[in-house]
Amino acid sequence: MNLGIENAFTREGKLVNILIDYGVIREITETKLNAADQVIDAKGSLVTESFISPHNHLDKAFIGDIIEPNVSGTLWEAIQKTWEVKRNYTAKDIQKRASQVIDQQIKYGVTHIRTHVDIDSIGKFIPLKALLAVKAAYKDIIDLQIVAFPQEGILKDEGTESLLYTAMETGADLIGGMPHNEHTPQDSQHHINILFDIAKQFNVDIDSHTDETDDPNSRTLQYLASSTIKRNYNDRVAVDHICSLAAQNDYYAARIIDLVKTANINVVSNPGTNMVLQGRLDSYPKRVGITRVKELLNAGVNVTCGQDCINDPYYPFGKGDMLEVALLLGHAAKMTTQSEIETLYDMITYNAATTIGISDHKLDVDTPANLVILHGVKTVNEAIRKAPPARTTIRKGKIISKTSITEDHFYEPKQDRTSD
Ligand SMILES: [Zn+2]
Repeated sequence: MNLGIENAFTREGKLVNILIDYGVIREITETKLNAADQVIDAKGSLVTESFISPHNHLDKAFIGDIIEPNVSGTLWEAIQKTWEVKRNYTAKDIQKRASQVIDQQIKYGVTHIRTHVDIDSIGKFIPLKALLAVKAAYKDIIDLQIVAFPQEGILKDEGTESLLYTAMETGADLIGGMPHNEHTPQDSQHHINILFDIAKQFNVDIDSHTDETDDPNSRTLQYLASSTIKRNYNDRVAVDHICSLAAQNDYYAARIIDLVKTANINVVSNPGTNMVLQGRLDSYPKRVGITRVKELLNAGVNVTCGQDCINDPYYPFGKGDMLEVALLLGHAAKMTTQSEIETLYDMITYNAATTIGISDHKLDVDTPANLVILHGVKTVNEAIRKAPPARTTIRKGKIISKTSITEDHFYEPKQDRTSD
C-alpha cells in the first residue's frame, strides 16, 4: 500500500507532494501526484524527518510520583533517592512506565528512541528484562535501542563488571558508562578500559554518561576520547552531558574539543536535566550547567540533545517532546539566530540520527519514510516556538499516530479590538 502526502511545506519553504511506497520516499514533487491508496492533506503544514530521541531513561521515568523529593537537587542525591525504588522494582511497573513514555513520544513525532537502563547490584536485571519485553512489544511501532548503564559505577559497585557482560549476553544493544562516578581518577580510567573491553568483545558501540558535574577536575572525557582513538573506535562512541567541559579553562577545553573531533565522538547534551541538576553548589553567578554546545558545533563535532529524564528525582518536568528539548537548548546555549534555530532542529533530527547510527534519516527520494507532519506551522522557527500539539507520525511509510485538536472559541477571535 502506498501513501501520498499533499500540500506539505518543506524546511526549504517549498510546497510539495510526497509519494511513499513500500516504506520508502519515491517522489517529492511540486506537481500533482498519481493516485495513492491513502492520502493525507497536510494543508500547507511543515513536514520533515521524524524526531529521534537519543537519550532516555525509560526504566526511571515517572518514579517522581512515588519517591521522596530530591531536596538538594543534585545528581548525587537523585542517585541515592532512586536506590529505594530500585530495590522494589517489578518488571510490570517498569513496563507500564516505559510504555507511557513511548506512547507519548510517538504522539510527538518520535520514531526512534535510545534508552539507558540501569545495570547494578541493586536492581540487577529486572529493568533490562522489562525493557527487552517492551522492545519486543513495540517492534512494529518504534525502533528502541537499549544501553546497559552502570550508573552506580563499575568498581564502586562490586560485581557490576560481570553484570554488564551478562547484560550484553541478555540482549542490550550498547554498552554505557558513568566513569565520573568512581572513587578515584585511576578507577575512572579502569572503568573506561572495561567499557572498551566489553564493546570490543560484543562488537557494540559505546554511549557513556561522562563528566556530568560542574567540577572542572572531572576529566574523564580526555581519557575516553584518547582511548577511542587508541582502540580504533572512532565513530562508535557517544558521550552524554560532559558538563565539566564548560567549567574548565578555555585552553584545556579547546584541546579536548579537538580530541573529541579527532575521535569522531558524538555528543548528547541534555539541557533540561542539566539546567536543573547543575550549579547547585554555586552561589552567584550560577552556571547554566550544559556543556560547550556552540564550541563543539563550530569544531565540527556532531552534537544532539536529549530528553534524559521525565518526572523522576533528577528532573521533575519533561514530556518527551523533542521540540521542547530543542527550545530548552536554544535558551541554555543561547542559540537564537536563524541559522542557530535551524541547527537546533537538525540536532533533534539528523544529528540525533547520526548519534544512534542512522545515516539516511533525511526527507529525500529513496530514503526511509520516517516523517512528522507538524500541523498548523510552516517553518522550523514556528515549530520550536509553538510546539504544535497536532502532529502526524509516519514510520516506514505507515501512519502510526495522528493527533488532532479542536478549538472552540466563545468570542470572535479575528476581531480587531484595538479600534474604537
Ligand atoms: Zn542520562
